[in-house]
Amino acid sequence: MPHDVEMLQAKLDALLRIAKSNDQKHANFQEYELQLLNSSSLYELFTVILEQHRDRFQLSNVTLLLIDPEYDFQRLLGSISTPVTWQDRLLFTDNEQSVNHYFSVLRKPRLSRYSEQLHARLFPNANSLQSVAILPLTRQNKLIGSLNLGSRSPERFQANIGTQFLQHLAAVISACIENARLQENIKQLGLLDPLTGVNNRRFFDQRVVEEVSLAQRNQTPLSCLFLDLDHFKRINDNHGHQAGDAVLKQATSIFSDIMRTTDVLARYGGEEFVIILADTPSNIAFEIAERIRKTIADTAFKINNGDILNLTVSIGLATLGEHKQITTTQQLIHTADQAVYAAKISGRNKIHHAI
Ligand code: GH3
Ligand code: MG
Ligand code: MG
Repeated sequence: MPHDVEMLQAKLDALLRIAKSNDQKHANFQEYELQLLNSSSLYELFTVILEQHRDRFQLSNVTLLLIDPEYDFQRLLGSISTPVTWQDRLLFTDNEQSVNHYFSVLRKPRLSRYSEQLHARLFPNANSLQSVAILPLTRQNKLIGSLNLGSRSPERFQANIGTQFLQHLAAVISACIENARLQENIKQLGLLDPLTGVNNRRFFDQRVVEEVSLAQRNQTPLSCLFLDLDHFKRINDNHGHQAGDAVLKQATSIFSDIMRTTDVLARYGGEEFVIILADTPSNIAFEIAERIRKTIADTAFKINNGDILNLTVSIGLATLGEHKQITTTQQLIHTADQAVYAAKISGRNKIHHAI
């Protein structure tokens, strides 16, 4: 009899342990789900998936493959430098076929032993994986990618294990990714100039305030270039508005090519641009301005009918942190604006260095 009681007790204990562990799993998942849903940007969402998923669910590898034929995700993430550790975890493909073959028509998670031949593409850093779960991510029946979970335990993902939990997880992650992508798109559209694709005035107005306070806090010089294309109206008048647009685009890409990655370019208005050069004294800023001036003057701008046009640019330069007269954002902008005006008066195709 006491033996039976002991057996029963042991059984109950085991059941209790399973129930507790299920409770813990459930709480753990709910916490994770909340983190996913609360992510306010694509970057934050990917951080949760790529940096927390693995530890939270005791996996040895978690990667995310996104089908990105239009480079949508890569463009949206482009302005943020993503951590190096994401390199072999955040994967892109422009071709649905590279992931489609993992899934049946029903697009259910695929659990199996790890096979280098099959899975190396999904786990560039395979780390002696033994079993994997490949979760299709879909939106409105369209495959958008896969979340790939790898374990060193051969038992962790077996074909006969129920996948309801993983299906739910994949649905939540798919919805979050799609939502973040749309949000990010809207955010960036409001801050980008549609013609040239560079930041717009609204973006600049916000960013310059941040850059100025950062420069003041770190006591670093901050330079600002105002660029105004010379006699631009004539291009429109002589060759049409479309030719003007084509020239604006080419000029923008010249500015971008010459700038360093840390510099910030914005279209300030019609044919006026501004570049913020963080941690840059005026002599270096002048060199960059001179390279821009010269390249624009030396470039043959092509317009639609095959004609080639020449163009020059006038540049005003002002630097914060070198003169007592420039200590605020307003003074910096005002001075650079005055400087470009001075460059025009002195004959155009010139750089004027304020003060
Ligand atoms: P200045 O050398 O004094 O700067 O002469 P400008 O002709 O460049 O200056 P102005 O301010 O008189 O004219 C700017 C012209 O730029 C007028 C406007 O039609 C043109 N412009 C502004 N935005 C756009 C645009 O998006 N596309 C085209 N094609 N033209 C534009
Ligand atoms: Mg102008
Ligand atoms: Mg002009």
